[in-house]
Amino acid sequence: MAPAQGNYDYDLVVIGGGSAGLACAKEAVTNGARVACLDFVKPTPIGTKWGVGGTCVNVGCIPKKLMHQASLLGEAVHEAAAYGWNVDDKIKPDWSKLVSSVQNHIKSVNWVTRVDLRDKKVEYINGLGSFVDSHTLLAKLKSGERTITAQSFVIAVGGRPRYPEIPGAVEYGITSDDLFSLDHEPGKTLVVGAGYIGLECAGFLKGLGYEPTVMVRSIVLRGFDQQMAELVAASMEERGIPFLRKTVPLSVEKQEDGRLLVKYENTETGEVSEDVFDTVLWAIGRKGLVDDLNLPNAGVLVHKDKIQVDSLETTNVGHIYAVGDIIYGKPELTPVAVLAGRLLARRLFANATQRMDYADVATTVFTPLEYACVGLSEEDAIKTYGEEEVEVYHGYYKPTEFFIPQKSVRYCYVKAVAERNGQQRVYGLHYLGPSAGEVIQGFAAALKSGLTVHTLMNTVGIHPTTAEEFTRLSITKRSGLDPTPASCCS
Ligand code: FAD
Ligand code: NDP
Repeated sequence: MAPAQGNYDYDLVVIGGGSAGLACAKEAVTNGARVACLDFVKPTPIGTKWGVGGTCVNVGCIPKKLMHQASLLGEAVHEAAAYGWNVDDKIKPDWSKLVSSVQNHIKSVNWVTRVDLRDKKVEYINGLGSFVDSHTLLAKLKSGERTITAQSFVIAVGGRPRYPEIPGAVEYGITSDDLFSLDHEPGKTLVVGAGYIGLECAGFLKGLGYEPTVMVRSIVLRGFDQQMAELVAASMEERGIPFLRKTVPLSVEKQEDGRLLVKYENTETGEVSEDVFDTVLWAIGRKGLVDDLNLPNAGVLVHKDKIQVDSLETTNVGHIYAVGDIIYGKPELTPVAVLAGRLLARRLFANATQRMDYADVATTVFTPLEYACVGLSEEDAIKTYGEEEVEVYHGYYKPTEFFIPQKSVRYCYVKAVAERNGQQRVYGLHYLGPSAGEVIQGFAAALKSGLTVHTLMNTVGIHPTTAEEFTRLSITKRSGLDPTPASCCS
């Protein structure tokens, strides 16, 4: 453990009790440091608030995955009839029961988190932190204020959803911060934004029987392989989710009947249209929570509402670090936040030297037909290595379990982006189909270990699974051969 320098209250104060902050604080005490962790949630404009644990647990990955699961279960019940189950095909979800089940789970996680912090002897402070100077923090508590000093600080404050600057946005719209605890059915919902959150929310709302429409400003899933992104969108459209392309919202007004009149514009044609919705969900990205921190008092520089760090997660001030969603230019994902936080604590208090590797992080978009990937997109591989040096293996496939209920197999597709010559290293793997996260996780380890096309093709598959489709890839895009399968078993 690094010796405490100066007469500080703590060796380390972590600001933010989310995925990154908690992982860092717990690892630091495990390595002998005296640690406090502050966490404070400001309510949303409609008053939604939650407990310790940050975005993932309360208003992110966990409630999202549970609602996605609820939606997949509805689909499975319909399929069950084809498999011989006697089920009433007029099934209907109970939104308030779903919300209360999801919220009960979250509350149990909040409780376990607080017990864990107490057991591990991390001092949890339910207060909003702002810097007084580079070694002093003011914590605004419900019952007053407290000044805390520390040798080092970790800023792990994450972000919150943005609202567009148009009339009615804040008064009448909600965000993912509100959706998972909404006290009424969302009904016909306009989902503005075609990133992860927009597509995932639209997907489960449709599966639960509501009527989402996705408004796309420019492209779908910016930053992802665009062929895959368009297949995701097409698979959602096939399920009856309309996409309003090249469209931006202009205003939201509340009608006398309580419904929301949204005016919007097609940015290509300039045409203005309107429609009425029960709910408007802003999913237009997230803003880093730098404003409350009084960072100028500590001398920490801000870059586009985020904090820039070096490869040791150090800010421009040597004893102040940042991890998780608040850092600039890195994937905003829970496992990234957790590992980066843990490695930072080990470097600070256990003489470790390992740095966070932000490359080749696998991820999944939990749309009704899920999309998972690891490594480079086709376009990024071509940009990096040149078109002549990149080979793309691809294929459509038919999941065995889709046949009996006659589910659409149209968008079940895998592709491997690889080096064309030499070792034929695999640069990226892309999968569209069921259980995508489960499928890609193991392949991510293989890719990080230097997977080659030869190894992939000589890996014996597990039959009948959808993951085995990666081992069956043999057709290159360059060959122009038809990538649709003739049979499933040979
Ligand atoms: P956070 O978890 O946001 O934690 C920061 C905490 O600090 C918050 O509690 C905040 O209130 C608090 N805080 C802020 N300012 C202060 C202050 N001044 N003083 C004290 N406390 C403060 N990632 C995945 O990997 N998989 C998914 O499936 C996934 N789904 C998602 C779905 C949604 C709808 C959203 C919104 C996100 C999702 N994410 C997912 C992203 C994931 O939730 C984030 O990457 C992760 O939570 C980031 O952790 P963090 O610790 O950096 O920030
Ligand atoms: P994203 O940045 O992924 O997407 C924002 C979307 O909103 C884009 O389609 C963007 O369009 C659009 N947009 C931005 N501003 C406007 C505007 N003023 N009007 C209309 N549309 C607009 O943000 P998300 O909020 O979806 O997700 C944030 C992060 O959370 C993700 O990057 C991800 O790391 C994490 N996350 C992870 C999940 C997972 O792992 N499964 C799930 C959910 C979130 P344009 O392309 O034109 O800019």
